[in-house]
Amino acid sequence: MKTALLPPAILNLVEELARLPGIGRKTASRLAFYILNASNHDAENLARAIREVKQKIRFCKTCFNITEEEICQICRDTSRNRSQICVVEDPASIIMLEKTNEYQGLYHVLGGVISPLDGIGAEDLHMKQLIERLEGVHEVILALNSSTEGEATSIYLTRLLKSRGIKVTRLARGIPLGSNLEFVDELTLSKALKSRMDV
Ligand SMILES: [Zn+2]
Repeated sequence: MKTALLPPAILNLVEELARLPGIGRKTASRLAFYILNASNHDAENLARAIREVKQKIRFCKTCFNITEEEICQICRDTSRNRSQICVVEDPASIIMLEKTNEYQGLYHVLGGVISPLDGIGAEDLHMKQLIERLEGVHEVILALNSSTEGEATSIYLTRLLKSRGIKVTRLARGIPLGSNLEFVDELTLSKALKSRMDV
């Protein structure tokens, strides 16, 4: 499609949609026309949902999970085991681990992994905040994605935590190498959590 022929408002929408991950220009055009043909009600709902997610969602002050409150639901839940913290890269991993119903402890979202090529060092992640939460914690479970950067970050964290006398475990293998936790099925994840290993 010759996008130069499109009215500026559509062109603008195509360009914004094409910036989303996994959306090429062709799909972006298709979505833009879908929105154009949708009812005012549906289009307005979509716009409102986008605005609301930016206005209402913030990060938990304790664990950096996504929440609409100052402290997230998991951190507020007094029935959870406060002596365990599971460290993950992003809030999407928490959703996956919660689905297994296997884990009753708390979480800590790092907000990424150490990646020198992308200029991300330990100080850019929520590691300091993790160290500050260790009082009364007996075990830290590392559940980072099994990418090269995830592995390197796990090794870094293991050293950091062990030097403070914390027991460190990590998810058992069985999670395909290089895979993102978000795409691992619940059964595999549940097994990996149950048979986690000391490091
Ligand atoms: Zn929290």
